[in-house]
Order: sequence, then C-alpha cells, then structure tokens
Amino acid sequence: MARRILTVVGARPQFIKAAAFSRALRAEPGLEERLVHTGQHFDDNMSGVFFRELGVRPPDISLDIHGGGHGQMTGRMLEALEAAMIEDRPDAVLVYGDTNSTLAAALAAAKLHIRLIHIEAGLRSHNRRMPEEVNRVLTDHAADLLLAPTRLAMANLAAEGLADRARLVGDVMYDATLHAIAEARRGSSILQRLGLEGRPFAIATVHRAENTDDPAQLARIVAYLRRAAGQRTVVFPVHPRTALRLAEAGVDTGGLMLTEPLSYFDLHRLVDAAELVMTDSGGLQKEAYFHRTPCITLRDETEWAETIEAGWNRLWTDPGPAPERRDIPDYGAGAAATACVAAIRAFLEPHAAMEAA
Ligand code: UDP
Repeated sequence: MARRILTVVGARPQFIKAAAFSRALRAEPGLEERLVHTGQHFDDNMSGVFFRELGVRPPDISLDIHGGGHGQMTGRMLEALEAAMIEDRPDAVLVYGDTNSTLAAALAAAKLHIRLIHIEAGLRSHNRRMPEEVNRVLTDHAADLLLAPTRLAMANLAAEGLADRARLVGDVMYDATLHAIAEARRGSSILQRLGLEGRPFAIATVHRAENTDDPAQLARIVAYLRRAAGQRTVVFPVHPRTALRLAEAGVDTGGLMLTEPLSYFDLHRLVDAAELVMTDSGGLQKEAYFHRTPCITLRDETEWAETIEAGWNRLWTDPGPAPERRDIPDYGAGAAATACVAAIRAFLEPHAAMEAA
C-alpha cells in the first residue's frame, strides 16, 4: 500500500518547491501526496499564479489563515493543521523552508507523533532576530528526516547534533529553475511588456521584515536602489508587505520601475536577461547564480554562503573585491527532487527501498 504524505505549503517559495517535488513524486507509485494550503500568501500574484503556471494541483485542504502577528498567525495555523492531520492521518507530514506555515505544521505533526520531513533543512543565518531563522531552527529540531540542500547546511545540522537524521539531496530550487528557464524563454513576454528588450537593467526585490518593518532601513534600501538606477533601469516587483510599508513610511521610490509581484516564468525571464540582481530573498540569490547573473544581497548575512565564496554574490555592506567567479557544485544536477523522493521512500519504507535497490 502506498504511503501517504501530507504536504503543508503557504508562501510563494513553497509553491515553487512543492511544484518541483510533486513532479518527481508522481513518478513514484509507493508514495501518495495530499496538499494543504494554509493561506499565508493569498493574493493571486503571490499564490494562484504559481499553482497555474507550475501545474501544482489545487490544494486538497485550504485553511485561509493570514495576517495578524507571528504568534497569532502561527497559533491559528497550529490549531487548524492539528485538526487536518487528525482527520487525514498521513504517514508523514512534509514541510518546506522557514515560514510560519512551516513551523505551525512542524509543531502540529510533532505533537501528534506523525513523522516530519523538512525539505531545505539546515540553513542558518545565525541571526535569531529573523523570524525565518527561528522557524527553521525549531522545525529542524522537531523533524525526523532532514533533507539538506548544501554541504554547509549538512555541517550546520551536524553542529546541532542532527547529523543522523540528515541527508544531502541538493537544491530543489535548482530543479525548479531548470524547468522554468525553457518555459520562460519560450512563453514570457515580460521584456516586451516592460519595454526592456535590448536595454541594460537590474532586478530588485525586498521583503524581509528586517528591511521592511523599520522605516529608516527601508528608506536606506530604497535610496541604494535609486542610486543603482542612475546607471541602468531598476525593475522592482513589490511584495505586498513592502508595498504597505513603503506607503506607510512615505518612502520616495522615484526613478525605480515598480511592478506588481511577477509570475515565476516572468521573474526568471528577467533574471536571465538582467545584468544585476539586488535582493534580500533567499531563493533569488541562488536563481541569480543559476542564470549566472551577479547578485548583491541586501542583508548583513546570508544562508547561501557558497554564492559569496564563489564570487557570484556579495553583501551590500561588503565593498569587495569579490573572489574570482567559479561554479558551485553543491546545488546538484537538477535532480534534487528525485533524491528527496528516494530519501523519503527509504525513510518511510526501509525494506521496500532496499529491495528496489
Ligand atoms: N519570485 C517570483 N516573482 C516575484 C518575486 C519572486 O516568482 O515577483 C520568486 C523567485 O523567483 C523565488 C521565490 O519567488 O523563486 C522567492 O520567494 P521569496 O523571495 O518570497 O522568498 P525567499 O526565497 O526569500 O524565501
């Protein structure tokens, strides 16, 4: 009988990771998946478009929980996810990354003694003021199977005594990017729509609480982007929270090309053609490297230190010089999702996996 996984997603990067994983999972008859959407991201351009574009099947359970403080949101999700897990009775719960949805699902599964699997385990900024850092540390310690994208993530897990639960699988975001590149080049008209064909431009995103929630820091970041716009067009797809904070703080964004959040294929088409990425997003730092577009990270530290060591990324606070650029072997060959499926199969059904081997 197939083992049943209940996957919990809620935020934009999780829809993208879930798309890559679920594509690989469909080829594995020993595993079945059901999907819960917590509702953390709910605007169509932060949620629905990813389901449609990436062919993620509609959620089996939608909780429609968003807004409020971190504790309130996580608490409401914990309560609703516990009920969903009691009803669904999965063999394992699968979570991605570091959002409030991740932590709520991790706590609910741990309390119900349901095995917990964490994809993108072991990332650390070592900055406990970031809500994401708290979410990922607690989730890793609650999880039974830790699927890590890089050697550094494996070392972080080992340093916290979690090595025996950890497996190195590569980065599912690289799988997602390989899928997106061809589709984006073929199908996206974003360069024409924004009038960017043949023009030098950079792409910028900002959404981390540490950058958006302090008006002085937000003003500093925007001033930095406006200076960069002196040399080239800077396209700035604005995350809903950032749009709110910009309006509240009355920050002048003159000279920047503001857009709504973009679809995944449009975003990739832009990163592919851009001469520079400036971002505080974890995913985008690596996507810049996958497209071999240099990146400036708008933070004081990064979980993706290999991109810095390999010369493709630098912190905005670091004047350089950057090391000579080289390729990064860590992220795998685009088969991380298949490696995740194999590791999960071996974890849930050790005997069957040994026979298959
Ligand atoms: N992204 C997108 N459209 C946008 C901005 C980002 O599709 O307008 C994608 C981006 O390619 C990356 C993911 O969203 O794969 C990153 O999500 P986010 O920055 O929200 O989260 P993080 O990666 O920091 O966890």
